[in-house]
Amino acid sequence: MHNELEKGFEESPMFDGTIQSTGPRYCPSIESKLITFAAKEKHQLFLEPEGEKTIEYYLNGFSSSLPWDVQYRGLQKIVGLENAKIFRPGYAIEYDYFEPTQLYHSLETRIVENLFFAGQINGTTGYEEAGAQGIMAGINSHLKAQDIKEEFVLKRNEAYIGGLIDDLVTKGVDEPYRMFTSRAEFRILLRQDNADIRLTEKSYKLGLASLERLELLNEKENLISELIKFTKEFSIKPRFVNELLTKKGTSELKQGVKLYDIILRPQISIFELIECITPFKLFLERVPEARKMEIIEGAEISIKYEGYINREKLLAEKLDKFENINIESRFNYSELKSISTEARQKLESVNPKTIGHAKRISGVSPSDINVLLVLLGR
Ligand SMILES: Cc1cc2nc3c(=O)[nH]c(=O)nc-3n(C[C@H](O)[C@H](O)[C@H](O)COP(=O)(O)OP(=O)(O)OC[C@H]3O[C@@H](n4cnc5c(N)ncnc54)[C@H](O)[C@@H]3O)c2cc1C
Repeated sequence: MHNELEKGFEESPMFDGTIQSTGPRYCPSIESKLITFAAKEKHQLFLEPEGEKTIEYYLNGFSSSLPWDVQYRGLQKIVGLENAKIFRPGYAIEYDYFEPTQLYHSLETRIVENLFFAGQINGTTGYEEAGAQGIMAGINSHLKAQDIKEEFVLKRNEAYIGGLIDDLVTKGVDEPYRMFTSRAEFRILLRQDNADIRLTEKSYKLGLASLERLELLNEKENLISELIKFTKEFSIKPRFVNELLTKKGTSELKQGVKLYDIILRPQISIFELIECITPFKLFLERVPEARKMEIIEGAEISIKYEGYINREKLLAEKLDKFENINIESRFNYSELKSISTEARQKLESVNPKTIGHAKRISGVSPSDINVLLVLLGR
């Protein structure tokens, strides 16, 4: 298949000079992969059905700018696809975008009032990136149309969307931007299991989430706190749990301890404890059966990760509070050994004006910022 495709390289707009720009970084064409990873004998392809009631498949990983007869011959060399037909050949794309620093955080353009931009036009790549901006631009244009002054902006520590938009609007893009979770500082706070706790109330206030959903959330939060309270108050005697503790390879109890302290042990899950402790089992009967899993899991995550979550929350609050402190030319970054090498280099070259500016430089982590704050006596 590789040989077949390579025959068409000379006619590809990617290689004959017609296309000058860089292609999509995270979805490279098959011919780019043949060049970049010339030593590889195989490349992964995925067959994605286009719908329930169609025989069309999207051949993920095979996007191409090669002449269609070359694509066709290459396709027929793939085991299992010898008889496949092409409905629409692959094509090359070039990226163009408007510099997103021209946007407000609401995604309204600064230059043309009432014009909102979302998606690839802002220099991003990806379905979720486009969808995330779409909902935010939609909400904000609605608020504007209703003459509601307050914009709907999510903070970096409230949602990945907050980080994505803040990155775009404050840093701009120099290559197609993708939202990696590693770009977010608050990864322990921004969890899948607490997305409802972070966002439902906001969504309700906007008129999106129903009252029923808000009430379900309130019930969940109450049940989780009751459960945690129970584990903090209930003492457990060694004879009820020692067998389980030994089986799980963790030390036995010599005397009674609070249930909470046992749950803190990484080897032990709440679900295993329920079976050993009858009062706990009885207590959990008040949790509706259909919600048991999410409530118990929610409580367990809060208990096990409380220390880390609190540390991240404190850091998030601290970073917010000191956002506007001026730090321009106040440090000799090259001498700061307690920050990462990447942060040292970037801070030195950018010489940020404020803590807020510094924390938005990619490669500068919250712990690097924390070091700066400590040096400033905060
Ligand atoms: C080959 C390839 C594979 C990809 N694979 C993935 C992947 O696996 N996962 C992933 O997350 N992302 C992937 N992407 C990226 C992703 O598809 C895009 O980033 C995303 O779809 C952009 O969405 P959007 O709504 O911003 O823009 P688009 O989906 O491009 O929507 C813009 C729409 O505007 C219309 N339009 C343009 N001009 C006008 C006009 N003047 N008037 C009216 N309408 C107009 C266009 O026809 C189009 O329908 C891939 C991209 C490519 C090219």
